[in-house]
Amino acid sequence: MSADCIFCKIVAGRIPSTKVYEDDAALAFMDIGPIVKGHVLVIPKAHHDPLTAVPAPLLARVMQVVQKVAAAQMAGLGADGVNLHQANGAAAGQVVPHVHFHVIPRFANDGHRWNWKAGAYSAPAEAAALADRIRGALQAGAGGQA
Ligand code: AMP
Ligand code: ZN
Repeated sequence: MSADCIFCKIVAGRIPSTKVYEDDAALAFMDIGPIVKGHVLVIPKAHHDPLTAVPAPLLARVMQVVQKVAAAQMAGLGADGVNLHQANGAAAGQVVPHVHFHVIPRFANDGHRWNWKAGAYSAPAEAAALADRIRGALQAGAGGQA
């Protein structure tokens, strides 16, 4: 537990939340500011941040809960689809520094639109050079063993 962390306080029951699921490893609760009504946050109960610092077996447990919640939004809310969102760092828009997955139910006419502006590479070589750098970091061990 991290003393100043709002999500750790939710895990400890020191701040109220509307829970939808919990087990020994993970907690799922309603986001108080839903992008679409029914928006759920899934977190590991233990404090980890960012995504790259979460032990892989724990991350697998958390992702199983993400999958369960997505299925429940479709079965229980009649969602037509589900978006996942996960932010790391202020540059990525992260506000709460305890790793969390947004699981957002989507409905055909929910009115939400992502502000997704597809860019373009100046030439295929630009993408290839960036891919080289990512492959190099992977080969050097970034992210640990798959
Ligand atoms: P992020 O920008 O990815 O860090 O998202 C943080 C999310 O936490 C936002 O969607 C907030 O609405 C949500 N949030 C903050 N405080 C609470 C809380 N006490 N209970 C439920 N959701 C919260
Ligand atoms: Zn925390």
